[in-house]
Parts: sequence; structure tokens; C-alpha cells
Amino acid sequence: MKNTAAKGTQDILPEISSAWEHIEDKFREICQLYGYEEIRTPTFEHTEVFARGVGETSDVVQKEMYTFEDKGNRSITLRPEGTAGIVRSFIENGMNSLAFPVRLFYEITAFRYENVQKGRYREFHQLGVEAFGAEGPFIDAEMLAMLQHFFKALGLKQINLEINSLGTPESRAVYRETLLGYLRPHKNELCEDCQARMEENPLRVLDCKNDHCHEITKSAPLILDYLDEESEAHFNKLQELLDNLGVEYKVNPKIVRGLDYYSKTVFEFISENVGTQGTICGGGRYDGLIKLMGGQDTPGIGFALGEERLLLELEAQGVLRNDRPVADVFIASLDDEALEAAQKLSQELRYLGIRAQYELTGRSLKAQMKYAGKQGAKNLIVLGGDELSEGKAAVRSLVEKDKAEHEFDLDHVEVLADYLKN
Ligand code: ATP
Ligand code: MG
Repeated sequence: MKNTAAKGTQDILPEISSAWEHIEDKFREICQLYGYEEIRTPTFEHTEVFARGVGETSDVVQKEMYTFEDKGNRSITLRPEGTAGIVRSFIENGMNSLAFPVRLFYEITAFRYENVQKGRYREFHQLGVEAFGAEGPFIDAEMLAMLQHFFKALGLKQINLEINSLGTPESRAVYRETLLGYLRPHKNELCEDCQARMEENPLRVLDCKNDHCHEITKSAPLILDYLDEESEAHFNKLQELLDNLGVEYKVNPKIVRGLDYYSKTVFEFISENVGTQGTICGGGRYDGLIKLMGGQDTPGIGFALGEERLLLELEAQGVLRNDRPVADVFIASLDDEALEAAQKLSQELRYLGIRAQYELTGRSLKAQMKYAGKQGAKNLIVLGGDELSEGKAAVRSLVEKDKAEHEFDLDHVEVLADYLKN
């Protein structure tokens, strides 16, 4: 038996889970400020959903999916990302008839069979949004401003936003041919992956992390020179709106996001701290996707953000917040009778919103007090003796050492609770 976590998976232990919670709470809070509501779709889907929704030529579909046959002979895949399942759900649940834009956010685990390294795992966490039914560049700008808001709320000082436009399918088709014309003479110099995917998805070569491929694409034709009028207007307006909203960005014509269905705006937030896995968040407009998956032609735009990479970035910038909850009070007990009273008092205090702990393992009084201190409990009550018989208990602060003890009447727990809250 293998007693280790499967390769590429990680335990998130209590010692760090508060940092995760903080990020997720903030994300939810910011999403709601912008009118997004949560959607939860299944962890697995029919393989078809991702094959179509993520794109047959993508690395994700070709190499990275966890696909298996279930006992009913269906081909099932663990979700490698969020968008495809959400689009499936959007269509299936007739969300087309809702008032546009339909704004959805999600917090999920995703699964990809990857080369495991720092910032790249086989089970990982994504935060993301999708907005359906808004065509113009305003929502694109708002989404980027929202991400900036989120990063600021987490305390990040610096994170680079790079944007690009992939144009419409028509303008992209022209660019694709031009790019192929440029790449073909260099084919033998490209990495194996790029050689294999060049003909079906030449734009992907621009995105390759291999140094040599990078060198070759340096002088490749740029997609921005091939935009049609509509896409160019959209992209120009987006930049104007970003300036207006005070969102800093850089235009990078090499950002392609690899997937066939992206159109017009694409973007990435890139960090210098997460090693070669520098993309913390990627997204863009996917106006053709819903139709491609069998729905009515509806524009869409979204992003997905890797939580593990965000955590690494927060850590690198020294702003990772990991406030573990500590007890407001620890109730020590002198004997069995006191222990019963401690349990009851804890219960009453918890109902009043106080984080109360008491002794459960039979420690000596001295050990109880040491334990309370080690746990970081803010206050200490020792129950027992004459005091308890009189229905009284004294609170001592473990944080402010010279604060005087306060005595309370156990018949008025709400007074004690009020005191502990402050
Ligand atoms: P990369 O180029 O790094 O492989 P990607 O283009 O495959 O990224 P997306 O599919 O756009 O990534 O996913 C959005 C985000 O999810 C990424 O920017 C990244 O932060 C995160 N992510 C993707 N794959 C992984 C992974 N295997 N482990 C951890 N985070 C990941
Ligand atoms: Mg990838």
C-alpha cells in the first residue's frame, strides 16, 4: 500500500488553510461587488464536453486529461478547467433566457496530468468568472479592473497585466496562414511539440516556453497587424477604457492562450516570482464557444486564476495572510465537576459567538494553562473550588499580562460574552 499522496496532489493542512480561505473569501467578496453569482458544476463531465469546449488541438485535451471509462461504459473526464462545464450548464439550463449579462463565478479544483513542478500540479485550484451576453469592450475592461481590485485587496504590490487581441475567426484565419508561411522554413528548428502542433495550431508556437522556439518567433509576423476593423476598434477602445480606469497593462502580441475558440481580447497576469510558471491568471473573450458547443450564438468572456500560483506570489511579495483562528477563551477546570461546568459554559459562549475551548484530555492544571498559552488563547478562565460553588468565574487576559482579572456571574453568560468579544 502506498501511504503517500498521489503525485501532483497536495494536502492543505490547517497550518496554511486560513491563507486559502482568506483568498477565497476575498475573491467571493469582490465577485459579488461586481454582480457575479456562484455556479457549481460537476467535478466530472462527459469527455466530449472538454474535447469540444477546451479544443481538440489544445495540450489540455491532447495530453493532460484524466479520462476513464465508468462502469456504464461512458467516457468520463475529471474537469481540467471550469469554462467548458459552465458553458454546458449554461446551454442545458436555458440561461440564454436570463437577463444579459449572465455573470458567474466559481472556485474549483481542476485536474491535469502534467509534469509536476513548482506551481504546476495534477490537482490544483482555480478561481474564475464567466460573463455571457455582453459584446462590447466595456465588460473586458471591467473584468481586468476587477482582477486588479482583487489583487490589490490581497495586498499585492506588483503584478503585470499583458493584453492582446486575437481578432475575429476571419481575421485570424488570414494571420494563421501568414504565420504558417513564416514557420514552415524553420520547422526543423522547433521543439518536438511545436513541430507536431504547428500545422493544426500554429499560434500555439508563439506561446511555447522552449527557448529555441522563442528565438524563432521573435521575428514572426504579429497578429495585431492582421486585425480587421471591428477587432481593432474593440482593442483600441479597451485600452482607452483601461487607461480611464487606471489599470496598467502592456500590449503583448505573443499572448495567444492556445485555444481555438478565443476571439478578440486575451490577457494574462504574469509574475516574476513563480519561476517559469509565471502566468497566474489567464483569460479572454470566447464569442464562438457557446455556439460551438451547441447553444445559441452568445458572446462570452472569462478568466481562470491558479490559486497555488497566487499563493506563491503572495508569499514572494511578503503579503501572504494566514490568520489562524485562535480561541477567545480557554476554560481550565480543577476537577471533574468543574469540567462539566466548563463544557456547559463553553457551549453557552459558543452560541453567543465566542470561540471557547476547554480541557478534554485530562491534563493537570499547570499543563492546561501551558496548553492554553501555546494555542494562543486570548483569555483564561479557571473553573473550580469555592468560586464555582458561588456561580462565579474570573477571566484573566493571556495577551495583556497586566490587565486586571475580572469576575463574572455564571448566571449572566451574555455579560461575560460581551467582555470576551472586546
Ligand atoms: P500554463 O501555460 O502555465 O500551462 P495554461 O495556459 O495551461 O497555463 P489555463 O488553462 O489558462 O493555464 O489555466 C488558468 C490558470 O490556472 C493558469 O494561469 C495557472 O495559474 C493555473 N494552472 C493551470 N494549470 C495548472 C497546474 N497544472 N497547476 C497549477 N496551476 C495551474
Ligand atoms: Mg498548461
